[in-house]
Amino acid sequence: MPENFDLIIIGAGPGGYVCAFRAAQLGLKVALIDKRATLGGTCLNVGCIPSKALLHSSEQFAFAKSHAAAHGIKLGSVELDLATFLKRKDEVVAKNVGGLALLAKSRKVTVLTGTATFTAANTLAIKGEKETSTVTAKNIVIATGSAPVELPFMKFDGTIVVSSDQAIAFPAVPKKLIVVGGGVIGVELGSVWSRLGSEVTVVEFLPKIIATYDDDIVRNFTRIIGKQGIKIETNTKVTGLRYSKIENRDSKMSAATLLAERDGKPLEFAADVVLVAVGRRPYTDQLGLEQAGVQLDEKKRVKVDAHLKTTAPGVWAIGDVIAGPMLAHKAEEDGYAVAEWIAGKAGHVNWDLVPTVVYTEPEVASVGLGEDAAKAANRAINVGKFNFAANGRAIAQDATDGFVKIIADAKTDRILGAQILGHGAGELISEVVTHMEYGGSAEDLARTIHAHPTMSEAVKEAGLAVSKSAIHAL
Ligand code: FAD
Ligand code: NAD
Repeated sequence: MPENFDLIIIGAGPGGYVCAFRAAQLGLKVALIDKRATLGGTCLNVGCIPSKALLHSSEQFAFAKSHAAAHGIKLGSVELDLATFLKRKDEVVAKNVGGLALLAKSRKVTVLTGTATFTAANTLAIKGEKETSTVTAKNIVIATGSAPVELPFMKFDGTIVVSSDQAIAFPAVPKKLIVVGGGVIGVELGSVWSRLGSEVTVVEFLPKIIATYDDDIVRNFTRIIGKQGIKIETNTKVTGLRYSKIENRDSKMSAATLLAERDGKPLEFAADVVLVAVGRRPYTDQLGLEQAGVQLDEKKRVKVDAHLKTTAPGVWAIGDVIAGPMLAHKAEEDGYAVAEWIAGKAGHVNWDLVPTVVYTEPEVASVGLGEDAAKAANRAINVGKFNFAANGRAIAQDATDGFVKIIADAKTDRILGAQILGHGAGELISEVVTHMEYGGSAEDLARTIHAHPTMSEAVKEAGLAVSKSAIHAL
């Protein structure tokens, strides 16, 4: 007899494990399946966590090399030990995934390792390394996440044409790194390797990088990371790759040449490694969705209703595999709510208030409606902007680049959105999310006391600036 559970979750990423833990808290008998040997999915194993560990270490390196002297700190020669640098990242990952394993055990969640395939809507075959088993449940949640998009004319080869999976663990610092795609992965991992000495060029199809942010944010961000040494080539369409002859590889010649065009004119970029970061696709390979009656939408995402139910009874889907931003915290909220719905409780997700963060230095963060989108939609808005250059803490810690922007409804003053470019923007945005969650106005934000001296005072000042009453600005 196959083992029967109240709930089985396929995929132990931030969506899947949060769903499993919440369901177990609510008293359900839960199984969590992943084909990876460790829990945590893309995010903890090869995504959010390792990339942030690398960003942090590379910031330390850049500080030691280029900025310590200005603080009166003499370090002598500063060198990179890449093996230790990468080992620390692996330790950070191990600590995180190990923590999840402990939590799963203490919550009595059954963890199964293997690839799950539907044989019916309530039955899964799990193919492990040695054997295949069968499990059943009244409710099954698909939380299988996403995988890197491959360019059809430039397939991943694992060494020269790579995805983020390899770019978190290059065995040596590439001399010339070309990043195709100026999105989040492109600028984050581009920053890491640029700080370590790579000549990084980001090739972006659109007229701007990190294109979901407002033009003024992107303009300043592009200038800042340009000064840090990253070359940006926008309006550039990649057309192919020419590998150099193997016999030349040990010489000064680069391993390949990226072929592209701008305004119909051909361009070439020498590359030792090409990181393709043009987005991720929902991952439903090997799931056997047709056996369960689960349908996909036009973009090959699992189709769900407003309560994340798929087209098959008792089958739900969450996270990167469904529509919406491909972000860990969004997947987590999906997972939490589905566990509550399955347990008969009132789950809730406010998908309008998913913050986004780019973890470069400075960081970029947003929530809600941007100024450009509000104007394009003819919304009557007031915008308050405050530069970190006028913030005492920012001056004290060399973090004067950037600004906070609050977008409020012109009539009601209700905050519609915020965008922040600056050191720690990812932490600062949370406060705006909270205000918005409770329907707060720019005046509410402005009249909230902020500790001095903190970068967060710039958020308060931007709130004041909405009504043209910022104190530390002209
Ligand atoms: P995933 O984390 O992708 O987990 C899905 C799991 O399902 C995987 O472990 C997979 O092995 C398993 N699986 C798939 N099919 C099967 C099957 N048939 N049987 C068994 N198991 C299966 N997001 C942020 O919010 N912040 C960040 O800073 C951030 N940084 C990122 C950096 C990088 C380099 C990358 C690649 C992504 C980053 N993301 C970040 C995105 C984030 O990783 C995803 O949004 C998040 O992991 C999605 O969670 P999920 O639970 O939907 O799926
Ligand atoms: P992305 O969607 O953020 O950016 C892809 C970029 O590639 C876009 O700017 C797009 O215009 C460009 N592009 C697409 N096709 C191209 C082509 N042929 N030539 C040149 N440019 C092209 O995708 P990503 O950076 O690969 O990240 C994937 C997902 O992972 C995203 O959904 C993101 O949310 C998530 N992620 C999040 C974080 C974070 O939250 N800090 C970090 C990394 C990844």
